[in-house]
Amino acid sequence: MYIPGGAEDAVLILDRLETHFKVRTKPFARPLSVHAVDDVSLAIRKGETVAVVGESGSGKTTLGRTAVRLIEPTGGRVLYDGQDITHTKMKNLMWLRRKTQIVPQDPYASVNPAFTVFKILEEPLIVHHEGTTEEREDRVHKALESVKLIPPDIFERKFAHMLSGGQRQRVAVARAMILDPELIIADEPVSMLDASVRVSILDLLRQIQTDRRVAFLYITHDLATARHFANRIAVMYAGKLAELGPVGSVLAEPLHPYTQALMAAIPDPDPENRFRKIAALPGEPPSLVSPPSGCRFHPRCPIARQGLCEVEVPALRELRPGHFVACHLAV
Ligand code: SF4
Repeated sequence: MYIPGGAEDAVLILDRLETHFKVRTKPFARPLSVHAVDDVSLAIRKGETVAVVGESGSGKTTLGRTAVRLIEPTGGRVLYDGQDITHTKMKNLMWLRRKTQIVPQDPYASVNPAFTVFKILEEPLIVHHEGTTEEREDRVHKALESVKLIPPDIFERKFAHMLSGGQRQRVAVARAMILDPELIIADEPVSMLDASVRVSILDLLRQIQTDRRVAFLYITHDLATARHFANRIAVMYAGKLAELGPVGSVLAEPLHPYTQALMAAIPDPDPENRFRKIAALPGEPPSLVSPPSGCRFHPRCPIARQGLCEVEVPALRELRPGHFVACHLAV
């Protein structure tokens, strides 16, 4: 098993992971194969944050969901704490549901509107048979304090519609943390929040990472927010890893033309504009249904070399310490 960047002290290892789907565009039409994740190898160490960055349709959300077996992988392996869980039956994965949690994108949809905050936070404890009634009360209070929803006895009586978007996302973070997980999949956790609230939620996640040594797989389309919070960045394009490395190295010296395009968009203060700039790269956005042969970025790449890039798939090569790139021409 070869994992770029190594797999020592890893909580999660993805080994040549593949997730393909069959989709029909019309009834009775021949199903098309969607290559959402293709041959991705990546490890997340204990207490580390790896940001997976890419456009919509790059496969990053599917990668996160496959990593915790919410989607079945088509190929490759998923190892949790060294244990191969790729084909473990769901009924034997209750421990994984406890150790890994998800902070979803939409704070409005992520909490039950009929539940008080107390019930939202108590529910996972009940499902996993944790503690007495008094102990659960105590844990809910502590969870609310840890996400700065203070005083907890006021917030625990509120319903979701009584909270702001930022407060709801704090409740979602508290819910994810209440079972003391080892790994959190944070799927675009700040993309639906106002700019003023984004930084405070990212600061909160970073605080949790430092205090509790929780590992994060932070999924985002915005490279600018990854710098706030990640230790390493994995850039995905059309289901494949384009670049992987320490955050300082990738941001200071992006080696892949796609990462360079993402970086060039960062000075724009509006994340939606940043996204539009990237979407406006020449050529078609990535297609997971029929990915191009050779380097998947070649139809949009400003430096593609004819006769090479559309023919040969570039391997992920280590060009700086811990910094890998899948580009024939990167040096
Ligand atoms: Fe561009 Fe070729 Fe590098 Fe792909 S391999 S990013 S097409 S130069």
